[in-house]
Amino acid sequence: MHPDLEALLALQDRDVAVASCDARLKALEPEVRTLDDQIVAAERVVEQARAGIRAAVERRDGLEGKIQNYRTMQEQRRQRLEWVRGAKEASTLMAELDLARTVLAKEEAEFMRSGDAVGEAERKTAEAENALQNVRDAQAAAREALVGRRQEIAAERESAVVERERTSKTVNPALLTRYDKIRRGKAPLAIYPLHGSSCGNCFTAVPTQRKALIQRGATIEGCEACGVLLYAKE
Ligand SMILES: [Zn+2]
Repeated sequence: MHPDLEALLALQDRDVAVASCDARLKALEPEVRTLDDQIVAAERVVEQARAGIRAAVERRDGLEGKIQNYRTMQEQRRQRLEWVRGAKEASTLMAELDLARTVLAKEEAEFMRSGDAVGEAERKTAEAENALQNVRDAQAAAREALVGRRQEIAAERESAVVERERTSKTVNPALLTRYDKIRRGKAPLAIYPLHGSSCGNCFTAVPTQRKALIQRGATIEGCEACGVLLYAKE
């Protein structure tokens, strides 16, 4: 066995441990996203309901202004009626007054309904706010559990990183540089056992002479095709 092999494999184990923590942390993300999406959906319903209140209030206020105008105009007609002399003009004014009274009555009824609509929009908003709070309450335990799991894994990762640093000091510096360089590449791991006469990562055949050197533990060779370090399993 090559003298540096043991330290190198131990280092790789540490890196696998760190990577496993990273993968587990990442696996928590969809769970958090699912919870977040539920909140966003409930918040959207609240927002729509609030917009409903604004629209209903605007309509009610608009009707109120309109009615105010009608009343002012009616008042002006009544005043004109007091001063008017011709019978024809008077009867025209009377007809206008009658017509406007009917229109006004309709608008006032509409105004009452618009007030009801504001109340209804407020009721819907309160309902949506309540539903949002219920979602928040229902998520509290799940969120707390997620935070707990994340902290647990983060702590595990921290000690795995410390272990990794400690182990890296036991590796021959030249090999360590090579190992770290391979790790920054595409291969999932930096060092693989021979798979028969082939590289354990890319399965490219290793020339017989190199294979013999590797098996004797005389050298830690890199795969000619993918670059990972190769060793022979006992
Ligand atoms: Zn290879």
